[in-house]
Amino acid sequence: MDLTPPVAVVAADALVLLAPANRDRLALCASPTCQEMFVDNSQSHTRRWCDMNICGNRSKKARHRAATRPPRSGA
Ligand SMILES: [Zn+2]
Repeated sequence: MDLTPPVAVVAADALVLLAPANRDRLALCASPTCQEMFVDNSQSHTRRWCDMNICGNRSKKARHRAATRPPRSGA
């Protein structure tokens, strides 16, 4: 559980992104409305979003909505 305040996260992220050791782990957020750079610290290097709680959830919700949208019975 990460309870760091958002501002601190942004500042820390900037430093992390600049670290040479993290260059090969840089990735682009998969959210089309975000496209933020982030360092993929996951073991499998399959992280897709800059922040799972923001972009990850947003994307999941959008997909969930599309998948569970009730068919419109017109007429
Ligand atoms: Zn993002």
